[in-house]
Amino acid sequence: MNTQTREIIVEFPDIVVTKKDRLLIAGPCSVENRDQLFRIAEAVRKSGIRFLRGGAFKPRTNPYSFQGLQEEGLAILKEASEQFELKIVTEIVDASHIPLFEDTVDIFQIGARNMSNFHLLKQVARVSRPILLKRGFSATIEELLMAAEYLVSGGNTQVILCERGIRTFETATRATLDLSSVPIVKKISPLPIIVDPSHATGRSDIVASMALAGLVAGADGIMVEVHHNPPKALCDGLQSLTLESFQSLVNEIERLKPFLSV
Ligand code: PEP
Ligand code: MN
Repeated sequence: MNTQTREIIVEFPDIVVTKKDRLLIAGPCSVENRDQLFRIAEAVRKSGIRFLRGGAFKPRTNPYSFQGLQEEGLAILKEASEQFELKIVTEIVDASHIPLFEDTVDIFQIGARNMSNFHLLKQVARVSRPILLKRGFSATIEELLMAAEYLVSGGNTQVILCERGIRTFETATRATLDLSSVPIVKKISPLPIIVDPSHATGRSDIVASMALAGLVAGADGIMVEVHHNPPKALCDGLQSLTLESFQSLVNEIERLKPFLSV
């Protein structure tokens, strides 16, 4: 892979995000209904963030847990994107969904559980949209970069890596946020890397500190889960920021930005 660092993280006709800007993505774990997504999307847009996340096809560990609204979820995301001028980030779990996603999704997410699904990576590599590739829970940095190479060699160079924590013996957090992956990736790869402190910690009380720590470590952005009523969230409520705590985090990020090296 060419090792020249990419200055632009993502580029759309109406929005360009550079490394200096940092890519900020926020939204619920899952799209639950129109009212829920619209309330959260409105708060995300008001905070100045232009990238809304929300799962429609959820890869859940437990088959009896909420699996996502699927096609209906994509339709709600599309409506929110139009209403609030937000770009949509959502996870693709099956290559047969590509045509459906191309109609709505601005950044295709490959989740931790599918980082090593090389068949899916080869198929998604062909789409002409940026791809957010999350690190598998038990993947080494080298394996993450090799998975990214499937996308790049398959024709898609608009890859963004995401550190979302790995499994260790620690039980105080859902995963262990491996912040050292950020400067290591930057030394050996031209690809941007963002941090997801929500899935890494599993607890909303420390999401903001780890988001800020990620930026200080050199991350090119942050993705966080936000919900207007976390105790009632159908998925990942324990790690979801409230709309108020999310706005405080955005304010803190803005205060931190002038002190960050590019
Ligand atoms: C997600 O971001 O919606 C998600 C399921 O995260 P991960 O793949 O990192 O577990
Ligand atoms: Mn989640």
